[in-house]
Amino acid sequence: MLTLKGLGVCELSLCCAFLLLLRGVQSDSSKTLELMSMYRLIDGHNDLPLHLRMLGNNKLSQFDLYNSPKTATDITRLKAGHVGGQMFAAYVLCTAQDKDAVRLALEQIDVIRRMCTEYPELELATTAAEMNATKKIACLISVEGGHAIDSSLPALRMFYQLGVRSMALTHTCNTPWAESSSLYYPYYKRENKSLTEFGKAVVHEMNRLGMLIDLSHSSWATAEAVLQLSKAPVIFSHSAAYKICNNPRNVPDKLLLMLKANGGLIMVNFYSDFIACGDQSDVSLVADHFDYLKHVIGAEHIGIGSDYDGASGFPQGLEDVSKYPALIGELLRRHWSEADLAGVLRLNFLRVFEKVEKIRDELRNTLPSEVSIPLAEAQNECRLVLRHPNSSKMVKSSGMQASNLLGSGALFWTVLFFHFMLLHKPTYLN
Ligand SMILES: [Zn+2]
Repeated sequence: MLTLKGLGVCELSLCCAFLLLLRGVQSDSSKTLELMSMYRLIDGHNDLPLHLRMLGNNKLSQFDLYNSPKTATDITRLKAGHVGGQMFAAYVLCTAQDKDAVRLALEQIDVIRRMCTEYPELELATTAAEMNATKKIACLISVEGGHAIDSSLPALRMFYQLGVRSMALTHTCNTPWAESSSLYYPYYKRENKSLTEFGKAVVHEMNRLGMLIDLSHSSWATAEAVLQLSKAPVIFSHSAAYKICNNPRNVPDKLLLMLKANGGLIMVNFYSDFIACGDQSDVSLVADHFDYLKHVIGAEHIGIGSDYDGASGFPQGLEDVSKYPALIGELLRRHWSEADLAGVLRLNFLRVFEKVEKIRDELRNTLPSEVSIPLAEAQNECRLVLRHPNSSKMVKSSGMQASNLLGSGALFWTVLFFHFMLLHKPTYLN
């Protein structure tokens, strides 16, 4: 057995240094865990519901939410990661736009509601107070992509009634009223119309309802227009700093400064493509984004929006929802104060959500908006216009209106032609 007596001076000092180092590591990690149990993390973006659809067609009964090796998220690991709140994305693929996007969004909302009410460790929350009060993992429903409302404010309001408290104005596709940061889908491209009049009505209505406006995935021009217009603070629920990684999904300094003035929040995405502009990254590179953002706008405008299960390729050491302590430990080592980290973990989001609710309360005498999108802007063959049954046709779409017009024109000329034939029959037949 090794005893201190048997060691020389040199070995003794090495041994002491090692013990001190070990103690430092232990106290760092216990400080991290203590902080994280006091301020349980609220994460701005998680796509587990998308996997519930892809892996099992939303059949929750066939999914083990305690142990799910195929996803980065399950309840066991959420608890290990000290997660106290999670915004779950009701995400609908852009290819569903103008088709069945509304139904698909409803089905994703349904599966989130089921998940967060059937598992006793989770709790569906719809207010900042509920999120703050629960000892469980609070779930907040967030619609990802404005195409899910099919350019309809009544649909937006009904989503609110179902518990949706946040909506990203776009995903990777433009909507008829807002632009995406992605150029992948060619439709609904407009010249200098980052936010149309209807888009402005969506922003006003979200302010009135008390829904968080999420600008992740929006084009910078759309984000700028919203930041100028919104009465309430907004969020980027899962984006990082453009200065460090030049990806259009990240936020440039100009918008960061506008976000600070707006009182909003950027919740940092962990996806390696947005952290390092490549598939290799680690905890330190993620922490670089936090350092930079703190330098530009201050820690009170920063949160965490990991994007787990929304992408594949996460930093080494941050592979799933159990790994958040690695990041908080790194920020502590970089001398972030406990107050700053309490904000990043939880309090900044609650402050923003409370302010959004306060603006809603101030607007309580404003009636629901009756603005509707002009049909020419929606360009949607599936969009029906209900008419009175006594009118010539009860149901018409914009496309059908044109063909009906054509049809009735053709009918007119046919009648005229036969009328002409009948009148001039002898001559014509000869
Ligand atoms: Zn996303």
